[in-house]
Amino acid sequence: MRERQLDLGIAGKKAIICASSKGLGRACAQRLAEAGVDLTLNARSIEPLEATAEQIRQSYGVRVKTVAADIATPEGQQAVLEAEPKADILVNNAGGPPPGVWSDWGREQWQAAVNQNMLTPIMMMTAILPGMIDRGWGRVVNITSGSVKSPIPQLGLSNAARAGLTGFVAGTARQVARHGVIINNLLPGSHNTDRIETLLKTTALQHNISLEEARANAEAVNPTGHFGEPSDFGAMCAFLCSAHVGFMVGQNVLLDGGAFNSTMG
Ligand code: NAP
Repeated sequence: MRERQLDLGIAGKKAIICASSKGLGRACAQRLAEAGVDLTLNARSIEPLEATAEQIRQSYGVRVKTVAADIATPEGQQAVLEAEPKADILVNNAGGPPPGVWSDWGREQWQAAVNQNMLTPIMMMTAILPGMIDRGWGRVVNITSGSVKSPIPQLGLSNAARAGLTGFVAGTARQVARHGVIINNLLPGSHNTDRIETLLKTTALQHNISLEEARANAEAVNPTGHFGEPSDFGAMCAFLCSAHVGFMVGQNVLLDGGAFNSTMG
Protein backbone atom coordinates (compact mmCIF):
# COMPACT_ATOMS: atom_id res chain seq x y z
CA MET A 1 0.00 0.00 0.00
CA ARG A 2 1.33 3.48 -0.90
CA GLU A 3 2.19 5.82 1.95
CA ARG A 4 -0.11 8.83 1.81
CA GLN A 5 0.65 12.19 3.42
CA LEU A 6 -1.30 15.43 3.39
CA ASP A 7 0.61 17.89 1.19
CA LEU A 8 0.81 21.13 3.15
CA GLY A 9 1.50 23.05 -0.08
CA ILE A 10 4.41 25.03 1.35
CA ALA A 11 7.49 23.21 -0.03
CA GLY A 12 10.11 25.78 -1.03
CA LYS A 13 8.69 28.51 1.23
CA LYS A 14 11.02 30.28 3.67
CA ALA A 15 10.35 30.38 7.41
CA ILE A 16 11.78 32.21 10.39
CA ILE A 17 11.29 30.26 13.60
CA CYS A 18 12.28 32.22 16.70
CA ALA A 19 13.64 30.43 19.78
CA SER A 20 13.93 27.10 18.01
CA SER A 21 16.97 25.12 19.19
CA LYS A 22 14.89 23.12 21.69
CA GLY A 23 11.38 22.27 22.81
CA LEU A 24 8.30 23.50 20.99
CA GLY A 25 10.18 25.83 18.62
CA ARG A 26 12.44 23.00 17.48
CA ALA A 27 9.44 20.71 16.96
CA CYS A 28 7.79 23.37 14.76
CA ALA A 29 11.04 23.67 12.77
CA GLN A 30 11.24 19.90 12.28
CA ARG A 31 7.66 19.64 11.02
CA LEU A 32 8.06 22.61 8.67
CA ALA A 33 11.26 21.06 7.31
CA GLU A 34 9.35 17.80 6.79
CA ALA A 35 6.94 19.84 4.64
CA GLY A 36 9.89 21.07 2.53
CA VAL A 37 10.28 24.56 4.03
CA ASP A 38 13.72 26.26 4.19
CA LEU A 39 14.43 27.57 7.66
CA THR A 40 16.10 30.33 9.62
CA LEU A 41 16.50 29.14 13.20
CA ASN A 42 17.32 31.23 16.26
CA ALA A 43 18.35 30.77 19.89
CA ARG A 44 20.87 32.39 22.24
CA SER A 45 23.24 29.44 22.82
CA ILE A 46 25.10 28.51 19.66
CA GLU A 47 25.85 24.81 20.27
CA PRO A 48 22.31 23.42 20.63
CA LEU A 49 21.24 25.73 17.79
CA GLU A 50 23.87 24.34 15.40
CA ALA A 51 23.10 20.77 16.50
CA THR A 52 19.40 21.24 15.74
CA ALA A 53 20.16 22.88 12.40
CA GLU A 54 22.46 20.03 11.34
CA GLN A 55 19.98 17.35 12.42
CA ILE A 56 17.28 19.04 10.32
CA ARG A 57 19.55 19.41 7.25
CA GLN A 58 20.50 15.73 7.47
CA SER A 59 16.93 14.52 8.02
CA TYR A 60 15.01 16.65 5.54
CA GLY A 61 17.49 18.10 3.03
CA VAL A 62 16.17 21.66 3.38
CA ARG A 63 18.34 24.79 3.70
CA VAL A 64 18.82 25.90 7.30
CA LYS A 65 20.38 29.18 8.43
CA THR A 66 21.11 29.93 12.08
CA VAL A 67 21.21 33.18 14.03
CA ALA A 68 22.56 32.97 17.59
CA ALA A 69 20.95 35.99 19.28
CA ASP A 70 18.50 37.06 21.95
CA ILE A 71 15.25 37.53 20.04
CA ALA A 72 13.96 39.82 22.82
CA THR A 73 16.48 42.52 21.84
CA PRO A 74 16.20 44.90 18.86
CA GLU A 75 19.69 43.72 17.74
CA GLY A 76 18.62 40.07 17.86
CA GLN A 77 15.47 40.81 15.87
CA GLN A 78 17.50 42.78 13.31
CA ALA A 79 20.01 39.94 12.90
CA VAL A 80 17.23 37.41 12.27
CA LEU A 81 15.48 39.72 9.80
CA GLU A 82 18.75 40.33 7.93
CA ALA A 83 19.39 36.58 7.69
CA GLU A 84 15.99 36.07 6.05
CA PRO A 85 14.55 39.33 4.66
CA LYS A 86 11.75 37.64 2.65
CA ALA A 87 10.14 35.21 5.04
CA ASP A 88 6.88 33.60 3.89
CA ILE A 89 6.33 32.07 7.32
CA LEU A 90 7.04 33.47 10.79
CA VAL A 91 6.77 31.43 13.97
CA ASN A 92 7.09 33.71 16.99
CA ASN A 93 8.43 32.11 20.15
CA ALA A 94 10.67 32.98 23.10
CA GLY A 95 11.36 31.70 26.58
CA GLY A 96 8.61 32.01 29.16
CA PRO A 97 8.83 34.39 32.13
CA PRO A 98 9.85 33.16 35.60
CA PRO A 99 7.23 31.78 38.01
CA GLY A 100 6.23 33.62 41.20
CA VAL A 101 3.24 35.47 42.66
CA TRP A 102 1.85 38.89 41.85
CA SER A 103 3.55 40.53 44.82
CA ASP A 104 7.02 39.42 43.61
CA TRP A 105 7.10 41.56 40.49
CA GLY A 106 8.00 45.21 40.10
CA ARG A 107 8.30 47.43 37.04
CA GLU A 108 11.56 45.82 35.87
CA GLN A 109 10.13 42.27 35.85
CA TRP A 110 6.96 43.46 34.14
CA GLN A 111 8.90 45.31 31.47
CA ALA A 112 11.04 42.23 30.77
CA ALA A 113 7.99 39.97 30.45
CA VAL A 114 6.03 42.40 28.29
CA ASN A 115 9.12 42.92 26.12
CA GLN A 116 9.78 39.21 25.65
CA ASN A 117 6.29 37.77 25.33
CA MET A 118 4.33 40.68 23.84
CA LEU A 119 6.50 43.35 22.20
CA THR A 120 9.03 40.98 20.60
CA PRO A 121 6.46 39.04 18.53
CA ILE A 122 4.67 42.32 17.72
CA MET A 123 7.93 43.88 16.48
CA MET A 124 8.71 40.79 14.37
CA MET A 125 5.24 40.93 12.79
CA THR A 126 5.52 44.69 12.24
CA ALA A 127 8.76 44.13 10.33
CA ILE A 128 7.66 41.11 8.29
CA LEU A 129 3.99 41.70 7.49
CA PRO A 130 4.57 44.45 4.85
CA GLY A 131 6.68 42.09 2.68
CA MET A 132 4.12 39.30 3.06
CA ILE A 133 1.35 41.72 2.04
CA ASP A 134 3.35 42.86 -1.04
CA ARG A 135 3.92 39.25 -2.08
CA GLY A 136 0.27 38.34 -1.40
CA TRP A 137 0.98 35.38 0.87
CA GLY A 138 2.13 34.86 4.42
CA ARG A 139 1.60 32.77 7.52
CA VAL A 140 2.30 33.76 11.12
CA VAL A 141 1.94 31.49 14.13
CA ASN A 142 2.51 32.93 17.59
CA ILE A 143 3.33 30.38 20.28
CA THR A 144 1.54 31.78 23.34
CA SER A 145 0.15 29.63 26.17
CA GLY A 146 -2.97 28.01 27.55
CA SER A 147 -2.58 30.67 30.25
CA VAL A 148 -4.23 33.11 27.84
CA LYS A 149 -7.54 31.26 28.29
CA SER A 150 -7.12 30.05 31.84
CA PRO A 151 -4.66 31.92 34.09
CA ILE A 152 -1.89 29.88 35.73
CA PRO A 153 -1.47 31.28 39.27
CA GLN A 154 2.36 31.19 39.38
CA LEU A 155 2.72 32.55 35.84
CA GLY A 156 1.06 35.96 36.21
CA LEU A 157 3.70 37.57 34.00
CA SER A 158 2.84 35.13 31.21
CA ASN A 159 -0.93 35.41 31.75
CA ALA A 160 -0.80 39.17 31.27
CA ALA A 161 1.91 39.72 28.63
CA ARG A 162 0.52 37.03 26.34
CA ALA A 163 -3.02 38.37 26.71
CA GLY A 164 -1.69 41.67 25.32
CA LEU A 165 -0.22 39.88 22.31
CA THR A 166 -3.51 38.05 21.82
CA GLY A 167 -5.35 41.38 21.67
CA PHE A 168 -2.93 42.69 19.03
CA VAL A 169 -3.37 39.57 16.91
CA ALA A 170 -7.17 39.65 17.19
CA GLY A 171 -7.26 43.05 15.51
CA THR A 172 -4.30 42.78 13.14
CA ALA A 173 -5.12 39.31 11.76
CA ARG A 174 -8.39 40.72 10.42
CA GLN A 175 -6.63 43.64 8.74
CA VAL A 176 -4.09 41.60 6.78
CA ALA A 177 -6.17 38.51 5.84
CA ARG A 178 -7.45 40.06 2.59
CA HIS A 179 -3.81 40.18 1.39
CA GLY A 180 -3.38 36.43 1.82
CA VAL A 181 -1.59 36.87 5.14
CA ILE A 182 -2.93 34.61 7.87
CA ILE A 183 -2.10 35.03 11.57
CA ASN A 184 -3.14 32.59 14.29
CA ASN A 185 -1.98 31.76 17.81
CA LEU A 186 -1.05 28.31 19.09
CA LEU A 187 -1.62 27.82 22.83
CA PRO A 188 0.39 25.03 24.48
CA GLY A 189 -0.78 23.31 27.61
CA SER A 190 1.83 21.19 29.42
CA HIS A 191 4.30 19.61 26.97
CA ASN A 192 7.39 17.50 27.55
CA THR A 193 10.16 20.10 27.20
CA ASP A 194 12.91 21.60 29.39
CA ARG A 195 10.53 24.40 30.34
CA ILE A 196 8.02 22.04 31.96
CA GLU A 197 10.84 20.35 33.91
CA THR A 198 11.83 23.73 35.36
CA LEU A 199 8.25 24.50 36.37
CA LEU A 200 7.81 21.04 37.92
CA LYS A 201 10.97 21.57 39.98
CA THR A 202 9.42 24.75 41.43
CA THR A 203 6.19 22.87 42.26
CA ALA A 204 8.15 20.02 43.87
CA LEU A 205 10.06 22.48 46.06
CA GLN A 206 6.90 24.41 47.01
CA HIS A 207 5.03 21.26 48.09
CA ASN A 208 8.05 19.40 49.44
CA ILE A 209 7.51 16.44 47.11
CA SER A 210 9.79 14.69 44.61
CA LEU A 211 10.05 15.78 40.98
CA GLU A 212 8.51 12.43 39.93
CA GLU A 213 5.54 13.01 42.25
CA ALA A 214 5.06 16.54 40.94
CA ARG A 215 5.03 15.20 37.37
CA ALA A 216 2.67 12.31 38.20
CA ASN A 217 0.23 14.69 39.94
CA ALA A 218 0.26 17.11 37.02
CA GLU A 219 -0.18 14.36 34.42
CA ALA A 220 -2.99 12.71 36.39
CA VAL A 221 -5.22 15.80 36.27
CA ASN A 222 -4.96 16.08 32.48
CA PRO A 223 -7.87 14.32 30.71
CA THR A 224 -5.35 12.37 28.60
CA GLY A 225 -3.37 11.30 31.68
CA HIS A 226 -0.13 12.62 30.18
CA PHE A 227 1.66 15.71 28.87
CA GLY A 228 1.75 16.65 25.22
CA GLU A 229 4.53 15.67 22.84
CA PRO A 230 6.38 18.49 21.06
CA SER A 231 6.23 16.62 17.72
CA ASP A 232 2.39 16.74 17.78
CA PHE A 233 2.56 20.44 18.64
CA GLY A 234 4.96 20.95 15.72
CA ALA A 235 2.58 19.18 13.35
CA MET A 236 -0.24 21.55 14.30
CA CYS A 237 2.11 24.51 13.83
CA ALA A 238 3.05 23.29 10.34
CA PHE A 239 -0.64 22.91 9.48
CA LEU A 240 -1.30 26.48 10.64
CA CYS A 241 1.50 27.57 8.27
CA SER A 242 0.07 25.55 5.39
CA ALA A 243 -1.81 26.40 2.21
CA HIS A 244 -5.00 25.04 3.81
CA VAL A 245 -5.66 27.72 6.44
CA GLY A 246 -6.58 30.65 4.20
CA PHE A 247 -10.00 30.97 5.88
CA MET A 248 -8.79 30.55 9.48
CA VAL A 249 -8.06 34.00 10.82
CA GLY A 250 -7.03 35.27 14.26
CA GLN A 251 -7.84 32.03 16.07
CA ASN A 252 -6.42 30.75 19.36
CA VAL A 253 -5.78 27.03 18.97
CA LEU A 254 -5.47 25.30 22.32
CA LEU A 255 -3.36 22.12 22.55
CA ASP A 256 -3.75 21.07 26.17
CA GLY A 257 -5.23 17.56 26.17
CA GLY A 258 -8.59 19.01 27.24
CA ALA A 259 -7.20 20.52 30.46
CA PHE A 260 -9.23 23.71 29.93
CA ASN A 261 -12.66 22.56 31.04
CA SER A 262 -15.41 24.10 28.92
CA THR A 263 -18.30 23.08 26.71
CA MET A 264 -17.25 25.45 23.95
CA GLY A 265 -14.52 27.95 23.17
P1 NAP B 1 12.22 25.30 26.17
O1 NAP B 1 12.14 23.83 26.01
O2 NAP B 1 12.85 25.86 27.38
O3 NAP B 1 12.93 25.88 24.86
C1 NAP B 1 13.08 27.26 24.71
C2 NAP B 1 13.82 27.55 23.41
O4 NAP B 1 13.80 28.96 23.20
C3 NAP B 1 15.29 27.16 23.45
O5 NAP B 1 15.70 26.81 22.14
C4 NAP B 1 15.97 28.44 23.91
O6 NAP B 1 17.34 28.46 23.52
C5 NAP B 1 15.14 29.47 23.14
N1 NAP B 1 15.08 30.80 23.75
C6 NAP B 1 14.65 31.12 24.99
N2 NAP B 1 14.72 32.44 25.18
C7 NAP B 1 15.20 32.97 24.02
C8 NAP B 1 15.50 34.28 23.59
N3 NAP B 1 15.33 35.34 24.41
N4 NAP B 1 15.99 34.47 22.35
C9 NAP B 1 16.17 33.42 21.52
N5 NAP B 1 15.89 32.15 21.87
C10 NAP B 1 15.42 31.93 23.11
O7 NAP B 1 10.76 25.96 26.14
P2 NAP B 1 9.41 25.37 25.49
O8 NAP B 1 8.77 24.46 26.46
O9 NAP B 1 9.66 24.94 24.11
O10 NAP B 1 8.49 26.69 25.52
C11 NAP B 1 8.41 27.58 24.42
C12 NAP B 1 7.41 28.67 24.80
O11 NAP B 1 6.13 28.09 25.05
C13 NAP B 1 7.79 29.42 26.08
O12 NAP B 1 7.45 30.77 25.95
C14 NAP B 1 6.95 28.76 27.13
O13 NAP B 1 6.68 29.60 28.24
C15 NAP B 1 5.69 28.46 26.34
N6 NAP B 1 4.90 27.38 26.94
C16 NAP B 1 5.43 26.16 27.09
C17 NAP B 1 4.66 25.15 27.68
C18 NAP B 1 5.21 23.76 27.89
O14 NAP B 1 4.54 22.94 28.51
N7 NAP B 1 6.36 23.42 27.40
C19 NAP B 1 3.36 25.44 28.11
C20 NAP B 1 2.85 26.70 27.93
C21 NAP B 1 3.63 27.67 27.35
P3 NAP B 1 18.41 29.38 24.31
O15 NAP B 1 18.16 29.18 25.77
O16 NAP B 1 19.73 28.90 23.85
O17 NAP B 1 18.14 30.80 23.89
